Order: sequence, then structure tokens, then C-alpha cells
Amino acid sequence: MAGSFCTECGSPTELRVPEGDNRERAVCTSCGHIRYVNPNVVVGCIVEAGDQLLLCKRAIEPALGRWTFPAGYLECNESSPAGAARETLEESDAEVEILGLHAALDIPHISQLYMVYRARLVGTHFGPGEESSEVKLVDLDDIPWADLAFPSVATALRLYADDRAEGTHRSHMGTIQWNGQGSRFDIDQYDLLGHLAR
Ligand SMILES: [Zn+2]
Repeated sequence: MAGSFCTECGSPTELRVPEGDNRERAVCTSCGHIRYVNPNVVVGCIVEAGDQLLLCKRAIEPALGRWTFPAGYLECNESSPAGAARETLEESDAEVEILGLHAALDIPHISQLYMVYRARLVGTHFGPGEESSEVKLVDLDDIPWADLAFPSVATALRLYADDRAEGTHRSHMGTIQWNGQGSRFDIDQYDLLGHLAR
């Protein structure tokens, strides 16, 4: 946070390890306010409609034109399943019932935690919200694996498809890690570490 300013008093901040802490923070040089920066939680839903899943084509960057299940940042004072249902309504105009936790996926290199829920489409209505150009139901065999938006999306859908192939639903946890080769935008360059499912 070099060159940043205190959110409380507007004075310059400096990077230093506060007393009793163990890593650098932006600390105000005037009032001593400490700025803590913590990971973001992304919440989303894999929405089931019969045997099909609801997918959205992104109308915004990043990953413009690529496919995802509805997901976005959890808001303050919001539970993660409520946030997942809200994002689903915003991006796909679909009302859902949360059925359970599908996956908690850590992505440390971008400081994100994905909380992906399995949900059921209530009724039959859906359509593109502001951040989507198209929303559709797809069969598992028609998931556009080569055109998915993010490694997190591909990982969550792969785990889901594997479960479905075995006729089960499980809750998964794991860490998504770039293998250090090729492009960070290439989904094939990611590993799922510490995968547990039950
Ligand atoms: Zn200050």
C-alpha cells in the first residue's frame, strides 16, 4: 500500500509490521490506523433444472464471452448461501432453492475463497441479467469445457460432473493452484490440492 492514504484521517500510510503482528500492513503515520486487507469470498450456485444445469455467458470482463455458473462477491452482512442465491437472481434472473454446499475452493494466489452451492431452479423462468449476454440450460454432456470463464468454475463443474457420473452429490474442499507453467488463463495449468470430499 505504498503511496496510499489513511481511510480514517487522510494522512499518508507507511508499510510496516504493527506491534504484535507478523506481516506488513499499511499503517497511518498520523493516527496509527491499520489497514487490514483480507481475501474476498466469491459465492455462486450450480443450478439444477431436472438433469440440466444453468450457465451464463459473461457480458463483462474478465472472461468476456465465456461461460460460468452464476457467482460473484459476497456482500457484508450477508450469509454465503443467501449471497449465492442473490448473485444467481442478478446474473440469470433465476429464483433458486439452495440444496447444499458443493465446494469450498481456496485460490490463495489471487486471495479468493469460492463457496459454491448446489441449488434447484424454482419454477421455469430465467434470462440474462446485466452481467450476462445469454443464459441457458445445458446437459452435462454439453458443458462448454473449453470456453469456461475461470479455473474455479471449471474445477467446481468437473467435481460436480464426476459426482453425477457416480450418481451422488458430495461436498468438496481443496486448493486451486497454478502449476507455474503456461498461461494463468489456461484452465489445464491448474491443480486441485488437498481435495477432500464427503
Ligand atoms: Zn489516519
